[in-house]
Amino acid sequence: MPLFRKFLHLIFPAACAHCDTPLWDDPVPFVCRTCWDTLVPIAGPCCPHCGDPFASQVALQHSPTHECGTCRIKPPAFTQTWSLFPYQSPLKEAIILFKYRGKRSLTKPFLQAMIPALPLLPTCDVLIPVPLHRDRLREREYNQSLLLAHGLSKHLNIPLLLSCLLRSRATVPQTSLSKKERFTNLRKAFTIDNVSRIQGQRILLIDDVFTTGTTLHECAKALRKAGSGSVYGLTLARML
Ligand SMILES: [Zn+2]
Ligand SMILES: [Zn+2]
Repeated sequence: MPLFRKFLHLIFPAACAHCDTPLWDDPVPFVCRTCWDTLVPIAGPCCPHCGDPFASQVALQHSPTHECGTCRIKPPAFTQTWSLFPYQSPLKEAIILFKYRGKRSLTKPFLQAMIPALPLLPTCDVLIPVPLHRDRLREREYNQSLLLAHGLSKHLNIPLLLSCLLRSRATVPQTSLSKKERFTNLRKAFTIDNVSRIQGQRILLIDDVFTTGTTLHECAKALRKAGSGSVYGLTLARML
């Protein structure tokens, strides 16, 4: 706990974004230690494509490549995705602060939670954060997925590839839409620049929240169409 933050808490008492307990020497900004300790990674049987958790182990025991209904009906453009934590309190409040309220100081605790929860990842050549549209980047001043990707790039020792995958259309956040709207909101929202840099490259996309998988699917679709190798996805949280 940096001394400076202790000092700030003394001057401006802050409360846990989830339970409202006043914060003092809690290690994570905006969330108390007790709430943060409830964070448990997603575990158990899941769809080998999109990572959707299965209610029981039975399906995978009989066929290890058993896919979820969504992937069977509409095969995703990505090969596999992993989401590390459920999008639930207190992580949900923390992500909202991180994403919409400028609380970049949450990057470090997010990475500290993510790194020990990482699955065994396939060999990838580059990491690409899911991009923001330039208008949204201007108003938010930073891309939260890039902050996570930057830390993961250092940990995994895989270079970041920026300015290839672009968000060419400003779209409303997926979390604010109905299920049906989420599938159409991102259609043709991503384009590829510097096509030669992704030729044959195995790509790991990084995002903050997996909502329906449409964002990662649309990114992977654009990348694959432009000639990339396999595309994988990793997100901090998943809406269950
Ligand atoms: Zn709390
Ligand atoms: Zn699936």
